[in-house]
Amino acid sequence: MAGFDTKALNKITYGLYVITSSHEGKDNGFICNTVTQIASDPMRIAVSVNKANYSHDLIKSSGKMNVCTLTEEAPFDIFTRFGFQSGRNADKFAGTQVFRTANGCPLLSGYINSFMSLEVKDYADMGSHGLFICELTDAAVMNEKPSMSYAYYHANVKPKPPAQEKKVKGYICDICGYIYEGDPLPEDFICPICKHPASDFSPLE
Ligand code: FE
Repeated sequence: MAGFDTKALNKITYGLYVITSSHEGKDNGFICNTVTQIASDPMRIAVSVNKANYSHDLIKSSGKMNVCTLTEEAPFDIFTRFGFQSGRNADKFAGTQVFRTANGCPLLSGYINSFMSLEVKDYADMGSHGLFICELTDAAVMNEKPSMSYAYYHANVKPKPPAQEKKVKGYICDICGYIYEGDPLPEDFICPICKHPASDFSPLE
């Protein structure tokens, strides 16, 4: 364990986005919190994507994506649909009318205030993640509703743990609120709901 407090990383503020992609007829979208404008001239946007995500491969193959900026009105259902299942075995746009931007990528039809269409200019291998460095090819603002921050999601969107009648030893998933009953939490535990690792769990108070 490092001799410094890595919880400092939790003090970084992030937004929340649905990133959509399309390649050879396959559409996908996933929840992302790592979208940053990194240069203004030329304008460059960086998006970091976990290599385990199906979207990583679709974006790497197609060289394009849409960043849909979620508003504070986005319900937990959006996170369940786009964040807690893989596009490898689920069609995340099933049952919805799919709108597309000029680059052919889907657009989320609600709960967003803007979109950006990106074309990949550069790629850096970051180990667990691939970093896509992109040019803006299209963008629009739909409304002035506030963008959802990661902190807002944790405070207001993620389901609250049920009130405990008797004290149980356990751990709660910081991402989706799933509760593991038991102590200790196995090191290789994977959240059955959102698939995040044991490191994203906190002891129940
Ligand atoms: Fe979880």
